[in-house]
Amino acid sequence: MFNIILFGPPGSGKGTQSEKLIAAYGLKHLSTGDLLRSEIAKQTVLGLEAKSIMDRGQLVPDAVVVGMISSALDSNPEAKGFLFDGFPRTVAQSEALDKLLEGKNTAIGVVLALEVSEEELVHRLLNRGLTSGRSDDTNEPVIRARIKEYQDKTMVVSDHYSRFGKVVKVKGEGTVDEIFASLCSEIDKRMSL
Ligand code: ADP
Repeated sequence: MFNIILFGPPGSGKGTQSEKLIAAYGLKHLSTGDLLRSEIAKQTVLGLEAKSIMDRGQLVPDAVVVGMISSALDSNPEAKGFLFDGFPRTVAQSEALDKLLEGKNTAIGVVLALEVSEEELVHRLLNRGLTSGRSDDTNEPVIRARIKEYQDKTMVVSDHYSRFGKVVKVKGEGTVDEIFASLCSEIDKRMSL
């Protein structure tokens, strides 16, 4: 099994690159943002609670996302590996993920960290808001709040995995294909170890 965390701020291209990576490597895509939006669409209690937090640009509680990831791991026993997108977003989530994977005799193979400037992020997210139908993409203060949550709570996740030498920084500006090629070359180096 080879498991990847695609890491980076909101708007860094994780969703776009995830689609290409799962197709190329046959991994199961686990995006907590997508899982939460599907709960909202189904109007579950969890979805209703998450929506008001997401609309403010804040992080939903660790226990909620860890629970969703835990059941997704259990429901995919045949997976060749997982691509985590938008998760883990706090140190507590990374520690929970490491334990869940250990329980399945596997671990994170690599953390690919996409790097994009803040102005480019805001520009991309406002543009995405024109068509994404996501209310958290149309309002600049909410976008800035999401970037601040990333800086305050999520960036440290990369320190957690750096201690194990698992983090690789990848330039997240350029064409979609150029960035995809950089990601693939990093994965290929590590998969063959
Ligand atoms: P983006 O990375 O563009 O902000 P996501 O779809 O990953 O988009 O996340 C949208 C929102 O969902 C976040 O702003 C946050 O409120 C919530 N969310 C997603 N994943 C997590 C997570 N792992 N922990 C806490 N909240 C999360």
